[in-house]
Amino acid sequence: MKWEENVRRVEPYIPGEQPKEANVIKLNTNECPYPPAPGVREKLRQMDADSLRLYPDTSIGELAKELCTYYGVLPEQLFIGVGSDDVLSMAFLTFFHSDKPILFPDITYSFYDVWAELYRIPYELQPLDDRFFIRKEDYFKPNGGIIIPNPNAPTGVFEEVGIMEEIIAANRESVVIIDEAYIDFGGESCLRLIDKYDNLLIVQTFSKSRAMAGMRIGFAMGNPKLISYLQDAKFSFNSYTMNTPSILLGAEAVKDKEYFKETSEKIINTRENTKLRLKEMGFSFPDSKGNFIFAAHEKIPAKEIFTALKEKNIFVRYWDKPRIGNYLRISIGTPEEMDVLIENLKGVVEHGDIY
Ligand code: PMP
Repeated sequence: MKWEENVRRVEPYIPGEQPKEANVIKLNTNECPYPPAPGVREKLRQMDADSLRLYPDTSIGELAKELCTYYGVLPEQLFIGVGSDDVLSMAFLTFFHSDKPILFPDITYSFYDVWAELYRIPYELQPLDDRFFIRKEDYFKPNGGIIIPNPNAPTGVFEEVGIMEEIIAANRESVVIIDEAYIDFGGESCLRLIDKYDNLLIVQTFSKSRAMAGMRIGFAMGNPKLISYLQDAKFSFNSYTMNTPSILLGAEAVKDKEYFKETSEKIINTRENTKLRLKEMGFSFPDSKGNFIFAAHEKIPAKEIFTALKEKNIFVRYWDKPRIGNYLRISIGTPEEMDVLIENLKGVVEHGDIY
């Protein structure tokens, strides 16, 4: 058809499956296995449907106030969006507007190249080393911007703040985005560097450690100038991104510091215990600081394990891609869910119980 010549074509990002059946063990999209903070449930119960008649608060007031208090940032250092995917997409649109390529690791969150393609941003992949660590020197060259997740996904590898700072400091002429979707599971945030470097944007999410993937809340913190450019792009796109329930319920989640700490600690403990059990069974993996483990078995191909688990209604994530085709990304569930996973993995790796 003639009009197709004028279409902005893209190959979309493929999200992990959201199975509809009740009896599945869902370890494929790094959601939190625990419910949101009790205050969220309470607020949801009290919410008045009549209030939905009005447009939401464009300043995202209540949620912004809680986030500023929790992270010790000023309102003008904070940007909030519909999940970190929305925040990242806005940040790509706003900050990556150069003829020079943006840089990111070859094994990373598979949305980055999709946004680059969508916005026609040139990009250059920087290969991780054999242990899945970045090589900082790869980021010491002219570029149109940098994005690195820390910890990285799907590997779980955490890079020390010192390494990240070297990269930020060496790139004062471009914006460096650090995607900290998984920072609450034992890594150290680069947040303290935002006052020192005006080219640094930190992005985080409510979808993992705050157990609110279904609510869609993400946020960025950085120098006020960076944030004001982001706001300009956002208000030129859609002024009412955050709906009223997400503002009110998100604020409740941030208020309960104790619950947040407890939940994150539980997930870290389950992760460390799962590492030991996987190792005993002949799996190897980079040392993850996320709420998932990226594991390969010494004998059985990942695709076979993936299929065998799926037959048993256990969902993990698998990518048939170069360098990572023999790995499974296994999200950390409750201890009970991990017991079932381990039992089934034993069936597969010890008895060849593939189908
Ligand atoms: N960054 C990374 C590294 C992720 O793995 C994810 C989750 N898919 C996101 C960002 C986006 O998460 P959300 O939009 O739910 O905040």
